[in-house]
Amino acid sequence: MNANAATEASMKTFQTPTDYLDAYEVPQNVREFLFRSHELFINGQWKPAADGATAAVIEPSTRQQISTIASATVEDLDEAVNAARQAFESSTWTSQTPLARERQLQRLADLIEEHAEELAILESLDVGKPLAEAEMDIAGTVDTFRYFSGWASKISGRSSEPAGLDGNYVTYTRKEPVGVIGVIVPWNFPLQTLAWKLGAALAVGCTTVVKPPELTSLTTLRFAELVKEAGLPDGVVNILTGKGSTVGAALAAHPGIDKVTFTGSTKTGESVGHAALENVTRMTLELGGKSAVLVFEDCDIDAAVEEVAFGIFFNAGQICDAGSRLYVQESIYDEFMAKLVDNAKAWKLGPGLDAESTIGPLVSESQYRTVTSYIEAGVAEGAKLLCGGPVDEGTSNYVAPVIFGDCTNSMKIVQEEIFGPVLVAQRFSTQEEALALANDSEYGLAATIYSQSLNRVHQLSKDLKAGSIYVNAQSSIDPAMPFGGYKKSGFGRDLGAEQLDYVTETKTVWITLP
Ligand code: NAD
Repeated sequence: MNANAATEASMKTFQTPTDYLDAYEVPQNVREFLFRSHELFINGQWKPAADGATAAVIEPSTRQQISTIASATVEDLDEAVNAARQAFESSTWTSQTPLARERQLQRLADLIEEHAEELAILESLDVGKPLAEAEMDIAGTVDTFRYFSGWASKISGRSSEPAGLDGNYVTYTRKEPVGVIGVIVPWNFPLQTLAWKLGAALAVGCTTVVKPPELTSLTTLRFAELVKEAGLPDGVVNILTGKGSTVGAALAAHPGIDKVTFTGSTKTGESVGHAALENVTRMTLELGGKSAVLVFEDCDIDAAVEEVAFGIFFNAGQICDAGSRLYVQESIYDEFMAKLVDNAKAWKLGPGLDAESTIGPLVSESQYRTVTSYIEAGVAEGAKLLCGGPVDEGTSNYVAPVIFGDCTNSMKIVQEEIFGPVLVAQRFSTQEEALALANDSEYGLAATIYSQSLNRVHQLSKDLKAGSIYVNAQSSIDPAMPFGGYKKSGFGRDLGAEQLDYVTETKTVWITLP
């Protein structure tokens, strides 16, 4: 395969996690946290798994163990669900005044902000992402808690005159917290995704049982310590590290859970959905994506090249709404692709804590194998490999940014989510053709348009089947704007005022006057 030789030659590598920590002078408090064996956080207390099971945390750039976490059992889950139920039914959280909840969530946001650098280092070490990206994740986490804390005191129902009934009524709706929420999170943005789930849930008075990703649980565990320090009542947030196939599956199927909010792959989401439906448990499913990027000849080519590269190579392409399917108008295809390949070759591979690194290793050896098998499939399918690939013979998790040209929509690499730094590109001639190609996918998480034509942008924003449309930029996220999918990218929305509807029940009250 055609690895980027320049990148490979200059890449820093370390034999052990300790060498790595020493090289970047990782602070003592982070080391102490890493070298501790971590327990489960249930009802405000730390405790080992019921059967004492633990799991190794593997650092992605060295593929060696850097920490140890507990592996929860179904018995632990029952205890956590009971604690969350008690906290919900008692007056400790749900019946606090909204302003009291708002203050505590603000206090939690303050603490996350105070510990931002420590959390960013942990996130970088755990996921493998460049520190600057991890810092953005932590800032986004703080913003999310701040934004939703403000909603605690602004939840309201509505009053309406009956439309067809004779009589004298007073009618109104009440927004009530849905109850105990089961939260399941993937490994790519662990703390920020957790904030996307908890911000709205806690603001309206729900309590929670969280199953963090088994690969990247460390910031969630540090977060639990901050939850305690912020003074949230015991049982409001419970954290169960462990396997998706056991504790995750049991959480989705648990009759004591009122709602499941899941972010992860479409395949796992389907099984979570089936399990939840058995108990008619409410659910939000934020699933996979294969988002289309349409580049028209009337765009600002240089700006679009920068954004397209960022949209797929940021976080080593391990982003649900990565712009991974590129369609470029044929009149500018050659020029655009030449500039894009130059850009891809300039990304600097290396461990996340190295300030020079702009792209880290993939999160795990298993993810590395998945991504490299897709690269092999692309070559076998006849796509043209323009740059990138694994930098060695499989001894590390590093993959230099990959671009395939001359793809067709029938190829597996165009239809399936790869979840790595792999961009698949092809030409189109007309706007109609571009739209048809973009919508020809089972996913519908996001789509991006590069064009200066107002008419084209408005028309396509209406016709593209995706939950987010980005215009002349990619992967913009803000707590005030909802995020979620069409088609097999899921249903329900995180973030924005819209999310409040997914963590509340609407009760209708009828008062008949004499
Ligand atoms: P995954 O589906 O393998 O795992 C997600 C979570 O589910 C993890 O915590 C895992 O332990 C748990 N899990 C695994 N099996 C389970 C089961 N049978 N029942 C219940 N829980 C189970 O996904 P991943 O590999 O961690 O993350 C990558 C995927 O997540 C990609 O498909 C990506 O597109 C998607 N994702 C989506 C969004 C979004 O907002 N739509 C955001 C980030 C990631």
